[in-house]
Amino acid sequence: MKINRCFLALKDSYLFATVGRKTAEYKKAHPEKDVIRLSIGDVTRPLAPVVVEAMKKAVEEMSRTESFKGYGPDQTCYGYQSLIESILNSYSRKGVSLGTGEIFISDGAKSDCGNILDLFSTENTVLLPDPVYPAYADANTMAGRKIIYADANEANGFLPMPQKGVKADIIYICSPNNPTGAAYTREQLKEWVAYAKSLDAVILYDAAYEYFVTDPSLARSIYEVEGAKDCAIEICSYSKTAGFTGVRCGYTVVPHALIREGVSINKLWARRQSTKFNGVSYVTQMGAAAVFSEEGEKQISENIAYYRKNAKIIGDTLDELGIWYTGGKNSPYIWLKCPNGMDSWAFFDYLLEEANVVGTPGSGFGKNGEGFFRLTGFGTEENTREACKRISRLLQK
Ligand code: PLP
Repeated sequence: MKINRCFLALKDSYLFATVGRKTAEYKKAHPEKDVIRLSIGDVTRPLAPVVVEAMKKAVEEMSRTESFKGYGPDQTCYGYQSLIESILNSYSRKGVSLGTGEIFISDGAKSDCGNILDLFSTENTVLLPDPVYPAYADANTMAGRKIIYADANEANGFLPMPQKGVKADIIYICSPNNPTGAAYTREQLKEWVAYAKSLDAVILYDAAYEYFVTDPSLARSIYEVEGAKDCAIEICSYSKTAGFTGVRCGYTVVPHALIREGVSINKLWARRQSTKFNGVSYVTQMGAAAVFSEEGEKQISENIAYYRKNAKIIGDTLDELGIWYTGGKNSPYIWLKCPNGMDSWAFFDYLLEEANVVGTPGSGFGKNGEGFFRLTGFGTEENTREACKRISRLLQK
């Protein structure tokens, strides 16, 4: 018996564990201090009332013989019709037309960001932005794929563009990005689509934060770019859109037009999912179907507006202090340059000890994150305002 030795190449993820340990140690040593966490990467607002009602109704249906549901529709990965239709309607509102068989329901974006790799040879080279959500690199390392990086930095506003001469087969794009909050315009995505096509590569587009986008020049879906259906898979989530981090539901779009080596990638994914996945619970799907209803969109946008307002409070504070940052406008994340040339962990300690505010060191998201720091709008407004007051006082000195 041999294990998959690629797992041994994984780096331990110390980032959130170390943030938690350092925070706990500080609180133990200073129990009188009110420590505020602006490091939260999880949602904190409750589910929208329409979602709760839809889930209650679905539970009721499950309690009666005549409306009880077992396994989902024949091809469970496609999900229940009402959910698929609500997703298709949400795409139409973005000007994107998709077909029923192109949407696959999942238990969230994280699973599909990794699972989709089953379809592609381990000989492929993967291009990842640096810094980015760490799960992409880990999932590819587990499979032994070669990873190369597109450098995101202050000079390109943390939005790297394709580089001539760099060859890749699988390209991850995360927009709006975690951790930088930077989001691509439609024009910039056009260049990525053209680049992917020139290499016969496939783009894996993670749109987990698309509902935070308000600027009309920014894309909410890669399919807003003409021709993207031949070269891109889009991975979406209800987690940040509708507070589903604990409920678990997402969807992945694999267009019929996506063909490689004469094979339909859509068919491969359907085959993969029907073998390794038995769908998402009926109750969850009914809750998700309510998200993109007219009332649902109204209610979720109130929660998103709440997080966005927090992000703006942080952004305004940094503007006043003259600190460079990305994000915060079309994203819950604010990615700032550590003041006075501090490295990410030095700034973490300084902020914790002097302002009792916790953030996330940028160096944990990739080498280009060194010297940067992530704050989020997922806290309460009261805590966000208080934390910003303290940051202002500390950094104005
Ligand atoms: N993609 C990105 C960029 C994320 O930041 C996250 C969660 O933080 C996910 C995917 C995971 O989403 P889900 O909860 O749907 O698995």
